[in-house]
Amino acid sequence: MECLPWQEISAGQGSEHKSLAEFTPHASLCEAKRVGFNSPRFLHSARMQRGSLKEEKMYRVTRQIFFCYGHRLLDYEGKCRNFHGHNGKVEVELEAETLDGRGMVYDFTEIKSVIKDWIDEKLDHRMILNRKDPLLGALQKAGEPLYLMDENPTAEAIARLIYEYALSKGFPISEVRLWETDESFATYHR
Ligand SMILES: [Zn+2]
Repeated sequence: MECLPWQEISAGQGSEHKSLAEFTPHASLCEAKRVGFNSPRFLHSARMQRGSLKEEKMYRVTRQIFFCYGHRLLDYEGKCRNFHGHNGKVEVELEAETLDGRGMVYDFTEIKSVIKDWIDEKLDHRMILNRKDPLLGALQKAGEPLYLMDENPTAEAIARLIYEYALSKGFPISEVRLWETDESFATYHR
């Protein structure tokens, strides 16, 4: 998209936008034109540059966890209606404004011993299924290892499941990303 001078793209905007513009680089104005002048992203960025907001600095650590799972989706027309499996990768992201006495957000070893061990025990090499799955009884009878959810076991729902577990264990969790394939991931964050 062609970037226009501020005078052209600010026509008709309110006075706040004009004063924000004085402190906003040309590239940001082009972005604003694309996303809209009232978009929270533009207003936040412009106010930040004007100095009316304090930027929050945070530390983050991320632990990757790999596990295999099977699932299928109910009430869905695509291929995922059939049982199939994924080599999943979870990225667990923790965040803190200050470091602990060891100089850490969190010890990677503790992330492993709690979150990875829980995933290994509850989700790894299991079928993750909607509790309403009509084949549930047969799979249980056959002794298949299952993990049941109250909803479709999509990547989004599994990311939230892991997020909520980490939160329940007191981790300063900020985001969980579940890579279902090398190309696709779902995120759940605060
Ligand atoms: Zn799938």
